[in-house]
Amino acid sequence: MEKNQVRTRFAPSPTGYLHIGGLRTALYSYLYAKKTGGKFILRIEDTDQNRLVADSIDNILKTMKEAGLFYDEGPDVGGDYGPYIQSQRKNEYLKYAKILIEKGEAYYCFCTKERLENLPDEKGARKYDKHCLALSKEETQKRIESGEPFVIRQNMPTEGISSYVDAVFGEISVKNEELEDNILIKSDGMPTYNFANVIDDHLMGINVVMRGTEYLTSTPKYNLLYDAFGWKRPMYIHMPPIMRDKEHKLSKRDGAASYEDLIEKGYIKEAIINYIVLLGWSPKNDREKMSFEEMQQLFSIEGINRSPAIFDEVKLKWLNGLYIKEMDSDKFLHLAAPYLDKSKVAGKYDYVKLAKIIQGRTEALTEIPEKVNFLEEFDKYDINLFENAKQKSSIENAKKFLPKIIYVLQNISTWDNASLYNVLTDLAAQEDVKKSGILWITRIAISGKESTPGGATELADLLGKEETLKRLLFSLDLLNKV
Ligand code: GLU
Repeated sequence: MEKNQVRTRFAPSPTGYLHIGGLRTALYSYLYAKKTGGKFILRIEDTDQNRLVADSIDNILKTMKEAGLFYDEGPDVGGDYGPYIQSQRKNEYLKYAKILIEKGEAYYCFCTKERLENLPDEKGARKYDKHCLALSKEETQKRIESGEPFVIRQNMPTEGISSYVDAVFGEISVKNEELEDNILIKSDGMPTYNFANVIDDHLMGINVVMRGTEYLTSTPKYNLLYDAFGWKRPMYIHMPPIMRDKEHKLSKRDGAASYEDLIEKGYIKEAIINYIVLLGWSPKNDREKMSFEEMQQLFSIEGINRSPAIFDEVKLKWLNGLYIKEMDSDKFLHLAAPYLDKSKVAGKYDYVKLAKIIQGRTEALTEIPEKVNFLEEFDKYDINLFENAKQKSSIENAKKFLPKIIYVLQNISTWDNASLYNVLTDLAAQEDVKKSGILWITRIAISGKESTPGGATELADLLGKEETLKRLLFSLDLLNKV
């Protein structure tokens, strides 16, 4: 480990899926490490065996890579401080718990569930009464040897105040009398989060701990452990919660709480990361859209807010739209193709042309099918759509010009957007009418829709000569019936 090098970590529990809050912790930890030339570590906290969900470790590793948050050390990439999965470090924790017991900072506890449940209920919270602290060494040894189940508890001070300075929230103090003698090692031999996070952060050389505010007030307990071992405390950076609205935290039920949820909703990776970085942090100039590289340069602890961040999907969508508009057309085509395949136009048209028409008009990829389905939904429509004074179009003009439009398109030599545009504007000039009128009439006559992505000639190009002429004749028929 290089001296003074920043080492941050993301320490998710594999309980199902990667929440946006977790992803933000990972992102900020990554950015801070990169910005300072430090290292970013991934550690899996799986000591709560009851909460484990199958496949979630793989899911976390996959999501981190997909999101571009490459860790320097972690379960599948290795490193000098592994293993990086807590369940594989089980013996380590017991060893350190025993050191604390020797120092009088921890003790074995044999209290039964019944006894704990009947402890006096002080202010609504049952606090452990240090009952087993009084046991002699000999008795403790005898009970362990006889196979009695035990836990190991932290021996909290009962007087005084513990405090520390959080880089975002400032000085945090708690009265020691309020601290419960936390369990460090459970009866199954596994450490609790409260213990394992300290041991691992120390052993892995983590000197900057970034996590959510739910740990703000339990951190003094962890500091007491650092102090008991004589270890240097890390710098703490706690981040505000992510809310659905003023009162509610963003939860799984909201359908937009995980990275996968957002991908599923048609948001692209770059926009998701860009949006998440803004949930609780802003650069000095309040810039919103920024590349991953820019984030690495701009990120700073001073820019982290104390107030809760509200997840605003409208804003995410807007940002996503910007990313889509500005991306290169090949990339958009690649992203759009699976959605085109799910639409009514699947396999029917030239996807390159289709993608070009919708790229600037798409905010979320999931909108793609509804943006192109109209191409396949041509049927009887309301001919009043031809009435549009602003575009210099009317039913009367449509009746008059549609046969001429059909004639020039039947005789066109090349069927592409530019040639179609040329012959239709030439026709407008010959007839001494505004070209917008001719184009409007053509577009309504081949789409039957008031608004479509793509103009008349782009659509005609896409539909091809045969289909375009078929639709124009159908529309002429419709007009002639009135
Ligand atoms: N495993 C903890 C969690 O998922 C990590 C908290 C921390 O970063 O220390 O909430």
